Amino acid sequence: MARVGEEEIEEMPHDFDVIVVGSGAGGGPVAWCLAQAGKKVAIIEAGGFYTTNDFNRFELLQLRRLWEKIRWTSNFELGLQKEIALGMGRCVGGSTTIFTAVAHRAPDHNFLEWYKATKISNESGEPFSPKDLEPYYEQVERDTSVRRYTEWDEGLKKIDAGFKKIGHPFAPVNAFIDMRCDQSGCLFGCPTEAKRGTLVSYIIPAILQGAEIFYNSTVTRILFSKEGENDKKRPRAFGVEFVNGETMETKRLTSKVVIVAAGALKTPILLMKSGIKELAGETKSIDQIGRNFGANTATLVFGRFQEPLNNWILHPLSGQMEDFSQKERGGFLLEASEVMEGPLGFSEVLVDDDGVPMWGRRHKEILKKYKYYAGIFINIHDSNDGRVFLDPETGREKYYKPITKEDESRFEAARSLCREGLIAAGAQETLNTIYLSHHVQGSCRMGEDRSRSVVDSQCKSHDIEGLYVCDGSVIPSIVDANPSLTIMALSRRLGDHLLKNVLLD
Ligand SMILES: Cc1cc2nc3c(=O)[nH]c(=O)nc-3n(C[C@H](O)[C@H](O)[C@H](O)COP(=O)(O)OP(=O)(O)OC[C@H]3O[C@@H](n4cnc5c(N)ncnc54)[C@H](O)[C@@H]3O)c2cc1C
Repeated sequence: MARVGEEEIEEMPHDFDVIVVGSGAGGGPVAWCLAQAGKKVAIIEAGGFYTTNDFNRFELLQLRRLWEKIRWTSNFELGLQKEIALGMGRCVGGSTTIFTAVAHRAPDHNFLEWYKATKISNESGEPFSPKDLEPYYEQVERDTSVRRYTEWDEGLKKIDAGFKKIGHPFAPVNAFIDMRCDQSGCLFGCPTEAKRGTLVSYIIPAILQGAEIFYNSTVTRILFSKEGENDKKRPRAFGVEFVNGETMETKRLTSKVVIVAAGALKTPILLMKSGIKELAGETKSIDQIGRNFGANTATLVFGRFQEPLNNWILHPLSGQMEDFSQKERGGFLLEASEVMEGPLGFSEVLVDDDGVPMWGRRHKEILKKYKYYAGIFINIHDSNDGRVFLDPETGREKYYKPITKEDESRFEAARSLCREGLIAAGAQETLNTIYLSHHVQGSCRMGEDRSRSVVDSQCKSHDIEGLYVCDGSVIPSIVDANPSLTIMALSRRLGDHLLKNVLLD
């Protein structure tokens, strides 16, 4: 008989069929899929529940409501110099409530890299290929109104003109944005509902289909039992424990299946804090939790133009230049036009000529000219060589992600191209910024090779029954595109799998 302490799990009816922890790109589609099939679904989200009418341009207010406090890497503790600011959402809809809505599929070559990384396979045991994800990409693109976004702002038109002169024009992005977009911003929530992240496309529809949402509720522990006889006992997830941030009440809910979709920074931490190692033993796949962390590390180059562009009131990323996106061709992707949507964000990211965060008189002069700037976002194809872990002495969450010599040279090549393009576009001065990442991935990878992955090719834990992971953390190696469409497609796929193979009654 299964027991957790004194509890006899078999005698407790489950509260839900499925509990989904996190409501972002990984949590939303699967929750909706199961709810609309009549399954009893609970969505538990650490952040608050804000909707269209709550979204406005008060930067400090929205940062506090919608964003997780920025996490910094701890690279210096390992003798490295450069840190990365890691940004993610903490609200219903997760990072897709604050994302810039670029919706691109992973290019074909990434699938081959994924197979090499973890032996991720399809249902027939063949290497996982673009064909295996295609139907799910198509479904998500339909659900979220993905379209080619051609309404370019003045900043992008200018930048594109400069880049055309140097032979590298930008192309319109595909975006999760319908025709209601009035270009009033992305990073602080979309005030028109045109941006169709998981909040609009999946979470609210899931609730309308009967899913129950617990917001402001942080899951602190996944509950496990052991089933089977004596030495054949196998651990099983049977629910979660969470704390309501307003009442500080602790609550437990049980379910047949637990899906952790807390994002690539938080999912490994939650698994570790739940005592998964102690429970399952030191297996190869348990040891992989938190490893192979990738950041798609980014930086920006801003150009100051002669006339005001007021780029901060516009949709930030509408154009993409992919000429160098493959590793062999440079390994960086450019997106424009960008100026941090709020003056605080803009002021925080600037660095001086030595790469030191800017301050003093020059900083002030630049901020006075905020509306004259437009910029370019550089994302590099870096390696999955980072790690998310708990400090053994303090128990604090730590993130380690080196910026290697190879990464540096990618950034240098990208920065120099950006400078050339911006000057050709008429910019009078260019500015660099800190390193940052909004595309964290890969800390609980999926695949068949247990020594290199945490979950199998269907997102099921190699070690624990009833436990699934589905978010950015499962991506086997860095995607050469913005990752959320891929995460949503994997989540839709997991929904199908659970309905066909697991939640049969
Ligand atoms: C500013 C910004 C811009 C971006 N722009 C783009 C873009 O243009 N295109 C693109 O494809 N991608 C973009 N991204 C990345 C994209 O949003 C993420 O890759 C994607 O949302 C990740 O999905 P996820 O499910 O892994 O995590 P998230 O979407 O971050 O969801 C995780 C959720 O889990 C919750 N959570 C965490 N821990 C717990 C816990 N213990 N209990 C309960 N809940 C918990 C969090 O609060 C969060 O809501 C952007 C990201 C940011 C931050």
